[in-house]
Amino acid sequence: MTVADYSSAKSGFIEWDDVLWFENQGNGVHQLKYARKIGANKYVPASLSISVRNSEGGQDLVEHVMTQAYENTIKRKRLLVLINPHGGPGKATSIYRKHGAPFFAAAKCHTEVITTTHRYHAQEIAKDLDLSKYDAIVCCSGDGIPHEVMNGFAERPDAMKALATMPICQFPCGSGNSLAMSLNGTGSPSRAAVAIIKGSPMKVDLMRLSQENKTAVSFLSQTYGLVADCDLGTENMRWMGGQRFAVGAVMRTLSATTYPCELYVKYAHVGNDAVKKHFNGMKREQHSKGIRQEEPNQAEGALTPPKFGTLNDNVPEDWTKLSLPDLSFFYVGKMPWMATDAFVFPACLPTDGYLDLITWDATIGRVSSLQLLLQIEEGQHIHSKQAHYSKIEAYRLVPKIPKGYLSIDGESYDFKPFQVEVLPAAGCLLSMHGIYANREDL
Ligand code: ADP
Ligand code: MG
Repeated sequence: MTVADYSSAKSGFIEWDDVLWFENQGNGVHQLKYARKIGANKYVPASLSISVRNSEGGQDLVEHVMTQAYENTIKRKRLLVLINPHGGPGKATSIYRKHGAPFFAAAKCHTEVITTTHRYHAQEIAKDLDLSKYDAIVCCSGDGIPHEVMNGFAERPDAMKALATMPICQFPCGSGNSLAMSLNGTGSPSRAAVAIIKGSPMKVDLMRLSQENKTAVSFLSQTYGLVADCDLGTENMRWMGGQRFAVGAVMRTLSATTYPCELYVKYAHVGNDAVKKHFNGMKREQHSKGIRQEEPNQAEGALTPPKFGTLNDNVPEDWTKLSLPDLSFFYVGKMPWMATDAFVFPACLPTDGYLDLITWDATIGRVSSLQLLLQIEEGQHIHSKQAHYSKIEAYRLVPKIPKGYLSIDGESYDFKPFQVEVLPAAGCLLSMHGIYANREDL
């Protein structure tokens, strides 16, 4: 629904979603604060004065506008804002001041802002956080701060409740920004700010990772090989922002680098056609109702123990063993976009209970590899028979090279064997639409 925007000479409209505040300032003069669209996915805070002659209806009008504007969510959210000054090209503080804070002020949100001073700072904060004090956690960062917050929650005695009930969102300031992109379909900070103000809790599957003596939670991805190398091996190109991924990938593809490993997989849907069918069928169900948390989540207790054991246990018998001496691309995850220009998992669903897996070998050749990398931008690689796409429940990866990178949600982990399984509907994001932005049939 829309209300007329009388401020512009041309007749225009303000979406209810973009209305931030409306109040009576006395004598029939009302002030409307809203997010004014100034370009594709770009917004600035704006205000309008509206005189209502018959002021008797004033209170009803305010109530009506505010109810419509906040139909699906609470007003005046209490936000814990965590700023990573190191994220992406290092501009998080100024991006937040320019494109975040003014919207939150206009919507009269309560903000408590903490700038992280070191790696794991956000994790320490989350571990001891009083959950009753906030309605959401806003990560002004790339994907590293959401990862840390979830892992801080995972360490708590009430881990399952913290993960399932405290909505986490991203105000995109990093190199990857998968979370904001997957929720909003854009990496625009101002769009994310509006989505945070108007967002409500959305359930998502998480992933439980175990390594020798280590347990972690992952919400986005595990990568080994080409992608991990490009993510973590390009720290010296951080100034390039997101482009460092692309440059790194092309460099490594041209050199036909391989990343041998043994992979053990508990498959659910194997192959691109089966994955597309699963997505098209289940998407309607998930997207038609949205994945909002209508009922309070009953999760409680510490992080649930692994269903399929750990690396100390034998691989379950029904898992498939793959020896991959020529592996190039390996990516497992639970978000459709890995970065604003990398639509890696077009068939990703928030709570289908599966991890998405894509691999390809260097044996397909440099030209095909480069083609696939280029196709990822629009998600077209999933129509290629050379990229192997599956839905899986769990897997174990044992690297067969002495040195390399392992990237978990874009964070560097010890280069050691690891095992991952899905944690169905264990996480909670703050989402404006209750769904991800990949809505087209495949
Ligand atoms: P990017 O998208 O650029 O990777 P992230 O937000 O993912 O940005 O963060 C990158 C890394 O920065 C994470 O490992 C995070 O723990 C770390 N970090 C957070 N705060 C600081 C800080 N104050 N100084 C240095 N590193 C930090
Ligand atoms: Mg990161």
